[in-house]
Amino acid sequence: MAVVTVIGGGLAGCEAALRVAANGVSVRLFEMKPGSFSPAHRDGNLAELVCSNSFRSDEASSAVGLLKAEMRRLGSATMAAAERTRVPAGGALAVNREDFARLMTETVLADPLVELVREKAERPFDPGLAEGGPVIVATGPLAGPETTEALSGLAGRENLHFYDALAPIVTRDSLDMGKLFAANRYDEGPGGDYLNCPLSQGEFEAFLAALLEADRVRPRPFESERYFEGCLPIEVMAGRGPRTLTFGPMKPVGLTDPRTGRRPAAVVQLRPENAAGTHYNLVGFQTRLTVGAQERVLRLIPALRGAKFARYGAIHRNSYVDAPRVLDPFQRLLAKPGFFLAGQISGVEGYVESAAQGLWAGENAARLARGLEPVLPPRATALGSLLAYLGPGNEARDFCPSNVNFGLFPPPPPGTRKREWPTGRIKIAQDCWGPFLREIAYAETNR
Ligand SMILES: Cc1cc2nc3c(=O)[nH]c(=O)nc-3n(C[C@H](O)[C@H](O)[C@H](O)COP(=O)(O)OP(=O)(O)OC[C@H]3O[C@@H](n4cnc5c(N)ncnc54)[C@H](O)[C@@H]3O)c2cc1C
Repeated sequence: MAVVTVIGGGLAGCEAALRVAANGVSVRLFEMKPGSFSPAHRDGNLAELVCSNSFRSDEASSAVGLLKAEMRRLGSATMAAAERTRVPAGGALAVNREDFARLMTETVLADPLVELVREKAERPFDPGLAEGGPVIVATGPLAGPETTEALSGLAGRENLHFYDALAPIVTRDSLDMGKLFAANRYDEGPGGDYLNCPLSQGEFEAFLAALLEADRVRPRPFESERYFEGCLPIEVMAGRGPRTLTFGPMKPVGLTDPRTGRRPAAVVQLRPENAAGTHYNLVGFQTRLTVGAQERVLRLIPALRGAKFARYGAIHRNSYVDAPRVLDPFQRLLAKPGFFLAGQISGVEGYVESAAQGLWAGENAARLARGLEPVLPPRATALGSLLAYLGPGNEARDFCPSNVNFGLFPPPPPGTRKREWPTGRIKIAQDCWGPFLREIAYAETNR
């Protein structure tokens, strides 16, 4: 029987390898850590979360919540580990990152069909690797030259780079607790998991002025300032207009300051980084200000006046291919059909999307290894919509990685009433899984 090879033990690679094994097919998983690390990875464990500890909303009314529900239905290892290492975060699914990575590593090591090879694949597209069966390259957005140079050769100059940014983390003991309040937006979920730092109109204007003038880290000559729209640095958002931040990461709607009984002019939300609540992430505050400028500007937020930074915001590289032009509908390279791309490098954006796309790459690699044709999930599902975005049908001229969102879903059937569509599309998505999974003879829970 064929053996599938997976390169990269991140979110996509682990999910892919475990999916292959769940199909009864043997798999070799190459992970270069701890021998080599990308600039953002630090932990020797697999499936490391390099920035936020959040898998975002867990509400099925959101596209990412729906995608998670579909992953659970498919027996996703990522979702199972996230559930077991969950920390409170209102309506979001957030985890203790160390426990999560440890559990994912243990899950991989415990699977008798997975062979974990702790080595860097120096030639990830070597035809020799595909002799035993399909190969899944899941080397992530910070893949080294061994991947990116080979990909440029295979995919042409459509192999693009862009940059997004990390949000700072502060310690709880450095916060002025008298100047913030605990609450979830719209009081969703039990308790108040977020710490909210309110600003008056005057404080917001002073913050904005300082932010616009602050020093930024200059992009290196080979770096283009092309950011992912869903993860813009705060200074870039601020430059788009005085109200952009209060409609974005500083939006006060749904938050009432219990001390005044009123909605503040602006709010910075802090989300716990760990179950102990010793560190907090500034939600949506990714930035490429210099370290000195971050200290000066962020301390203008009253509750952060004495903030100690456990991590500063930073820019980072993100490598991905122009998926609709270089991949087939199953995310195999057109120039090398034995090779799938999985995770962020395939053109999805985000932890959940990387794991979900990896899951399906694993499913298809296993199908090929078993002599079956690859398949796609129904187009109306969250996963089907995400994969369709990567597919040749996407004619966008300027392809850019995307989070899952309802904009990727098919349009409503003719005659659907506008106000019924938000719930209607979720029902359609949920209803089509059952028949599809039965058609491909797939058990709906973990195998
Ligand atoms: C700095 C940064 C911050 C991010 N922050 C967030 C965030 O907060 N929230 C979010 O949803 N998404 C975030 N992303 C985007 C993205 O969702 C994550 O990067 C996600 O981890 C992508 O999953 P992946 O499996 O594609 O890659 P990764 O999780 O990066 O996994 C790739 C793995 O491959 C290994 N590897 C690489 N090359 C080789 C090789 N040649 N041989 C063997 N092993 C190799 C690496 O060591 C790594 O373990 C961020 C990305 C970056 C770069």
